[in-house]
Amino acid sequence: MFENITIAFDNAGCPNRCKHCWLGVHPNKNIPIKTMTEISHDFRRFSEHVRVDTWVREPDYPDNYKELWNLSNDLSYNLKPTRFELCSFYRINRDETYIEWLKQFEVDTYQLTIFGGKRKTDYYVGRKGAFEEIMNATNLLLDNGLIPRWQMFLTKDNIDEVDDVLNLISDMNLRERCSNLGKTFEFFVHVGSIDGENTNQYDQWITKSDLPSISKEYFKGQEELITEKDICDKYKDSDKTNNIVSNEPVFYISSDLDVFPNYTEMSPWWSLGNLKTDSLDEVLNNYRGNKSIAQKAMTNVTYSELVNKHGNFNSEKLFHEEDFITYLLNRYCEEQPNSN
Ligand code: SF4
Repeated sequence: MFENITIAFDNAGCPNRCKHCWLGVHPNKNIPIKTMTEISHDFRRFSEHVRVDTWVREPDYPDNYKELWNLSNDLSYNLKPTRFELCSFYRINRDETYIEWLKQFEVDTYQLTIFGGKRKTDYYVGRKGAFEEIMNATNLLLDNGLIPRWQMFLTKDNIDEVDDVLNLISDMNLRERCSNLGKTFEFFVHVGSIDGENTNQYDQWITKSDLPSISKEYFKGQEELITEKDICDKYKDSDKTNNIVSNEPVFYISSDLDVFPNYTEMSPWWSLGNLKTDSLDEVLNNYRGNKSIAQKAMTNVTYSELVNKHGNFNSEKLFHEEDFITYLLNRYCEEQPNSN
């Protein structure tokens, strides 16, 4: 038995195709309510506390989002589904009842992601019109007494647009408007984790030489960043390995019913099994026994092997250490037989 289990169904998917998406690109498909219900009930055999969420990517994206929220509550067992500081800016722009509905939750701040001006934002969100929708969502949140927070993912490609975003914040009076609601407007930039779609940004990744051009005031987690070459030097002789098995696991269930641990991208080498063909007992045994390609590698392949095989000992690119080790692990797994 597990202390508690959280399961999240990738039901409906996401209207966006962000170039930084750590989960990767997956088709937008619905999972029948009957299937989500049966699977959720089956999980109760393995824990007295099961939390069920009906989204992995964009919360509240499908038209029946209210029904799905009620379903999450019904299917969760001795736990409540969680609301995060996340909303669907797609829905805010299309559904007049949505913001009113959001007000029932004890969440007063919602995070939106911007990449610079209109051209860069539309490009990185992967959807034409995204920039205007984010601006409109910002205004609608404020008009309804809710607080927007903006985050910006940085690469060498958009680093010179940070000032444009700061000008936008000023032009839209976001600081004053939040202050009028008794809150502080927050804007921060960061690099994100290098997995999923963000792996494709490796060549554009910011380096040490970019640091002076970014104000420390806005650069979240800057002090924890370390160059790739320093990570490689640090671990070149290390016999360290990792193990993610927990008594309180979170599992993502894809629209095709593949089960993944909530750790990094939903790539085939992380799959614990498929609930169309494998029993939940097998899937959870694979998790606990580190039997997927990735968990097996994670517990057996040392940091030394990873950095020596896939790291660049001359690279000045800046990463969070564990994110970068996961990136190397994903590269290692990608090359293994049967990884796809
Ligand atoms: S980052 Fe979020 S909004 Fe963007 S594609 Fe991924 S799940 Fe969707």
